[in-house]
Amino acid sequence: MRRTLSVIAVVIAVISGLVTSLLAAQPAQQHFDGQTWWGHVKVLADDNMEGRETGSAGLRKAQAYIVEQLTHAGLQPAGVKGFYQPVKLIQREIDEKNSSAALVQGGKAEPLVLGEDAFFNTRVELAAEEITAPLVFAGYGLRIPEKSFDDLAGLDLHGKIVVYLSGSPADVPGALASHYQTPVERWKPLKAAGAIGVISIPNPASMDIPWSRMSLNRAHPAMDLAGPEFNETAGLKMSLTVNPAQAEKFFAGSGHTFAEIAELGKDRKPLPRFPLAVSLKARASVKRSEVESANVIAKLPGTDFALKSEVVVLSAHVDHVGIGAPIDGDRIYNGAMDDGSGSALLLDMAAKLANPAAEKPRRSILFAFVTAEEKGLLGSKYFAAHPTVDPKSIVADVNVDMFLPIVPLKILKVEGIAESDLGDRAVAIARSLDVKAIADPEPLRNGFIRSDQYSFIRHGVPSLKMDVGFEPGTPEQKIFKEWLTKRYHAPSDDVNQPVDLGAAALYEEITRRLLLEVANADARPAWKPDSFFRRYASGGGS
Ligand SMILES: [Zn+2]
Repeated sequence: MRRTLSVIAVVIAVISGLVTSLLAAQPAQQHFDGQTWWGHVKVLADDNMEGRETGSAGLRKAQAYIVEQLTHAGLQPAGVKGFYQPVKLIQREIDEKNSSAALVQGGKAEPLVLGEDAFFNTRVELAAEEITAPLVFAGYGLRIPEKSFDDLAGLDLHGKIVVYLSGSPADVPGALASHYQTPVERWKPLKAAGAIGVISIPNPASMDIPWSRMSLNRAHPAMDLAGPEFNETAGLKMSLTVNPAQAEKFFAGSGHTFAEIAELGKDRKPLPRFPLAVSLKARASVKRSEVESANVIAKLPGTDFALKSEVVVLSAHVDHVGIGAPIDGDRIYNGAMDDGSGSALLLDMAAKLANPAAEKPRRSILFAFVTAEEKGLLGSKYFAAHPTVDPKSIVADVNVDMFLPIVPLKILKVEGIAESDLGDRAVAIARSLDVKAIADPEPLRNGFIRSDQYSFIRHGVPSLKMDVGFEPGTPEQKIFKEWLTKRYHAPSDDVNQPVDLGAAALYEEITRRLLLEVANADARPAWKPDSFFRRYASGGGS
């Protein structure tokens, strides 16, 4: 007996040592196991939600589930009508059969094949009449005063259509480059120079998805917020995206080739700028309608008498792109990771933090499930312009969009890492959990402006977006690249894909700690003195 006992004692000692080290390696398991998160993802990305297109019955169903879960968890409604904040939109759909585009040279018109050569961008209000205008190639088409960079200098753009390669030159920092590539910032200097249209050519070296799938998506309706206050591209009459594989014909007779441009673009080198020998003749027929959607807003009240009137926002978009062109026989674009994953995290977090046994934050936490992100960050843009709380009370936005727990979480990619002290907090929290936080290793993808945090940034609110990441040159990089090529905005972003629940749980824990730290700190988060985006904090928004 004694001997046995002592053997058992030794065994227990060994096992408990083992258990301790396991817990130390995965401390996230104290709060999350990934299972409840995945359970919510499965509901939100089920086929019966029909891909949650903005304005659709499927999205309303997903929102009803979210409201039900929030109510059950004891969150307070913080919308306009209960949890809902109505958002009015206009929808534009291209009528390609009645549209046309051609390149004209020496009086001869060569028609472009819509879908194969190019497609119209209906996100802007295209002119109803036929447009004929000379084309000018303007490099990246950017004017960035902070870097004394001006692609438009010396070009006559009056009455012309500007052709540019998507992206930015290498010596422009990521956040700055992202900012100047938003549709509104891109258009400002072009409009001032007298241009009437734009033609973008995606950089073949940095395309997320192949042309074939970009082109398939062109039939999806585009949307914008209703009301003149939201029309950011007034005067832009024509907008096309051109297939880089077919772009050579735009350069015929110009003395330059697209191959030459693409070669320079590969390394983000400065590009030549010159008039093209061809003109564009095009007419876009667009069907317009009104769409009604909503954000879903919930509040967990803070406990501190002085600070509870301030809010930390945790945001994610509920909408996805709905039902579309079939790929491998599947027409439902479920959006499990984009952004069922983020919405599910908000639900999981709301329930966790509202639990009576949980540590309560001093500031309030606002859960914003926004709509129409896929249409151009519209739900968040509306919320940031017309918040359901005092605008000055919003101290930070932590946005969760497609954080991709598809490999173990060892690297945390932080968008906005150097812009505010939120970045420092994220780095320290990650380190305490044995995770290395890094800046975006792929600034070409413009991550900083491509999700809802950007709507808050434009209104001066320090913001952050974190993702499961990788370091360049690792096998993980290939996994992410393959995911983007195959599943991003495709029907296969569904619940039949492999996910790493441990990575999801650890990501949730980092998010939980960041929220609580920000909510409990004496001081509000602040922009770094040298952050470009700090200007919006004093300027009162866009
Ligand atoms: Zn997304």
